[in-house]
Amino acid sequence: MEYSDLVEVYDALGATSGRLEKETIIAGFLKKLKGNPQWIYLLRGRVLPDYDPREFGISNQLVIKAIAVSFGVKNTDILKKYRKIGDLGEIAEEIAGKKIQGRLFSSKLTVKKVFDNLQKLMNIEGKGTVGKKMGLISELLGQASGKEAKYIVRTLLGQLRVGVADGILRDAIAEAFFAHDKKEMSDKIETAYDMANDFAVVYDAAASGRKDLDKIGITVGRAMNVMLAVKAKDIEDAFRICGKPAAVEHKYDGFRVVINKDGGEVKLFTRRLEEVTKQFPDIVEAVRKNVKGKSFILDSEAVGYDPKTKKYKPFEAISQRIKRKYDIDKLVRDLPVELNIFDVLYIDGKSLMDEGFMARRKILEKIIKSEDYKIKIAKQIVTSSEKEAMDFYKEALKIGEEGIMVKRIDAPYRQGRRVGYMVKLKPSVKDLDLAIVGAEYGSGKRGGMLTSYIVACRDDDKFLEVGKVSSGLKELEQDEGTTYSEMNDLLQPLIISEDGKNVKVKPRIVVSVTYQNVQKSPSYSSGYALRFPRITAYRADRHVRDVATLGDIRKEVGKHTGNSGPGSL
Ligand code: ATP
Repeated sequence: MEYSDLVEVYDALGATSGRLEKETIIAGFLKKLKGNPQWIYLLRGRVLPDYDPREFGISNQLVIKAIAVSFGVKNTDILKKYRKIGDLGEIAEEIAGKKIQGRLFSSKLTVKKVFDNLQKLMNIEGKGTVGKKMGLISELLGQASGKEAKYIVRTLLGQLRVGVADGILRDAIAEAFFAHDKKEMSDKIETAYDMANDFAVVYDAAASGRKDLDKIGITVGRAMNVMLAVKAKDIEDAFRICGKPAAVEHKYDGFRVVINKDGGEVKLFTRRLEEVTKQFPDIVEAVRKNVKGKSFILDSEAVGYDPKTKKYKPFEAISQRIKRKYDIDKLVRDLPVELNIFDVLYIDGKSLMDEGFMARRKILEKIIKSEDYKIKIAKQIVTSSEKEAMDFYKEALKIGEEGIMVKRIDAPYRQGRRVGYMVKLKPSVKDLDLAIVGAEYGSGKRGGMLTSYIVACRDDDKFLEVGKVSSGLKELEQDEGTTYSEMNDLLQPLIISEDGKNVKVKPRIVVSVTYQNVQKSPSYSSGYALRFPRITAYRADRHVRDVATLGDIRKEVGKHTGNSGPGSL
């Protein structure tokens, strides 16, 4: 397939916001993909399956250099244009478009060539990395037409912007192969995707028929989407959703860790599918020592505690353990974590996804040997009594837990979904998870650093601004939690464009933000603004697709939420 065919698809997708239209465009493309399922990743600007969250990590500077080299123009001229237009894709299009006229016999760029070069870029390491990367990019740009150059550059920078969310791709696969029972098959495809986390595998199975889709299962040793909870208003609401009796557990305030053991190897993943095995040798050791089984997948929450007083700490206090790749031994000593295991999805060759929750819990009880401050099974009661559940809730809050989780006892495990198999109950919502999409340089002691942040909620695959927040992070390294300087370091490589003191950044960083209330406001693209926002935590464990939706923001309008008060029961 020629790359220009894919470029036509990109153009058509970019020109419409209609979901059905997008599905039809993609379905047409998918029918032509047979034999090359992995090219499906290109529709979302990627060359890897979703369980592998690595990005190209190509900077604006490198792209500017590559354009300069490929078309024989000066770096400074590109930079000048970039300051004016702010979109390197468009600049590449313009420059390549002019050059192409002189290139009568240039060969046509194929999808295979683009895909292969992009994939090679991911795997370059060590000496001479920059030069090798430049070579691969220039090779593509050198053969590209104007439009092709635009999409290559946008893909490299992670800014494809053609709007292909998970749901659209799923429904497009259903339309391509099961046009007659699209609705039913779309659900099957979603289940298969949740297991595989890989649209190429799902595409391949769908192309060969319904039976192959049913065969897709989970694989040990890979990142996976976890089951998510819905919010309950109160205890009655929780029982209404989960039925009686229900299992009630403490809701621990840490971060989600999915533990995989496959023979001798233990691997740990966060909710944003990042592998964190190296950062947590203490968890690996506890799992090896205290969990029976050759291979398994466990779902858990890791909670930090003070090594001297043994008091549990809020998430923000231990967040650096997720990101920090050096001084690990010291961090293990200073910021130890305790694992609270609450589910098992796979054991010794058998998937437990379709077993009821209590059957899974029984297995957990058999395979885990609890050891204080290392590894425990989540504290649980099974009850039909609202009073008993309420007492358990109060006790959880009293000892500093976030609240409780109520779980349906016969429910299967469903990845990546908020299906009402488990609900959370905690004191009135005190914060929202939001994505940072822009920032402003500070002044005085915060000079030279990005210290005010534009935060956004999500609406499908768009990010809509809801406010600007500049308080909540720490000033000094020795303060517990994330500092302004650390946040600046995280944001600098994500800058897309600059305008005076303001920058736009790729939406990659998630922060929890508390606020006084939410008001309608014309100042931000969501139409709403948070009043008196303050960052409570940098959520290194969360993916931007998990941030609050526009619907969540609307629900908060008019509610008066205390900043971080005790909340109501
Ligand atoms: P929140 O910000 O309230 O933690 P969330 O969006 O991160 O919500 P949800 O799935 O809605 O995630 O809420 C449940 C979260 O609570 C889980 O993702 C998990 O990290 C955590 N948790 C703590 N204890 C438990 C438990 N016993 N069972 C399940 N999840 C638990």
